[in-house]
Amino acid sequence: MRDFAYVRARDVGHALGALGERANSMLLAGGTNVVDYMRTGALVADALIDISALPLRDIRVDQGSLRIGALARMSDVASHVSVKKFFPVVSEALELSASAQLRNMATIGGNLMQRTRCPYFREAGFACNKRRPGSGCAAREGFNRFHAILGGSEHCVATHASDFAVALIALDAVVHLESLSGSREVPLREFYRLPGETPQVESVLQPDEMIVSVTCARVPGATRSHYLKLRERASYEFALVAVAAIIDAPQGIIASARIAFGGVGTVPWRDGDAEQALTGCAIADADALRNAAKSALRGADPLRDNGFKVDLGRRALVRAVKAAGGGGQ
Ligand code: SF4
Repeated sequence: MRDFAYVRARDVGHALGALGERANSMLLAGGTNVVDYMRTGALVADALIDISALPLRDIRVDQGSLRIGALARMSDVASHVSVKKFFPVVSEALELSASAQLRNMATIGGNLMQRTRCPYFREAGFACNKRRPGSGCAAREGFNRFHAILGGSEHCVATHASDFAVALIALDAVVHLESLSGSREVPLREFYRLPGETPQVESVLQPDEMIVSVTCARVPGATRSHYLKLRERASYEFALVAVAAIIDAPQGIIASARIAFGGVGTVPWRDGDAEQALTGCAIADADALRNAAKSALRGADPLRDNGFKVDLGRRALVRAVKAAGGGGQ
C-alpha cells in the first residue's frame, strides 16, 4: 500500500474542503470497503478524509417517511423498530447483507457506494476496465456465473453489490448530496450509471460531493414489503438473485406492485414490466403469478455461465410477491 494523507473531519464543511484539496481523495467512514480495497491495490488514494465522527447517524420515521443519515450503521437501521414496522424491505435487505461484524461497522452511505464484488476487480493480475480503464474485461470470457445479465456492456458486466440499494430503488428513494457549492437531491434510480464505455464511473456523484442522507416516502404496501435473497450459502454471501417486492393487494388482488432485482444487473434493477404484468393478479393464483413473472428481466443477455439467473429470478419473484402480498412463500 502506498503512502496517503489522513484528515479527520470536524464537520461536513471541513470534510468537503479537504475533499477538494487533493484530486484523488476518498471518504472513510466504517472502512469496511475502502480499507479492504486499498490493501488489495484495487483502489489507490492520495488522501483519506475520515468522516466517521460527523453527526450524520440519525434514523427518522415521520408520518410514513424515512430519513437515514449517511453515517447510520447498517445494523442500527436494520434493527430500528419503526424501520422494521413501516419499511420491512429495508430492514430485511440490510439484515441479509454481509456479516454481523461488518453490519456493525459499515455505514449506509458506504453501502450505497461500495464497489463491485467481481473477483477480477480485486486481482491486479487480471484485465479489468473498472480498476484500470482500457485494460479489458477478464470476466467476459472468464468465470462469469455471478455476473450481470442486464445492463452490461462489452467493457464491464459486473453486478452491483448492494442489497440495501435494491430495496431503496423499489421505494423510489432519494439521495441527498452536499458539496461546497450547495446541495442537491438525486432519485436513486438516476444515481447509478450503467457501465457503457466508462465502467470506472459508477454513479453521478461528483468528486467534490458527499452523500449526507437518504429519504423515501411510505408507499402503498410498504408495511408488508419483503426482500428475498438467494445465494450460494445462507450465512454470508452476495446475491445470485434478490427481489425487493412491495405489493399493495387489498382483498387479495394486486392493485400496485413495486419490484426491484439485485444480483442480476450492473445497477440495482427496477422492473417496470414485471410490475405491470403483476397488477391485477390475485395473490392466491399461483398460475397467474408465474405467468406474470415471465415478463420480468426482459432484455436479459446472459453470459456463458449465468443463464440460470433468468429462471431463478422469475421463480424468486413469485415467492417474494406471495410473501409481500400475504400469500406465504
Ligand atoms: Fe472488471 Fe467489470 Fe470486467 Fe469485472 S466485469 S473484470 S469489474 S470490467
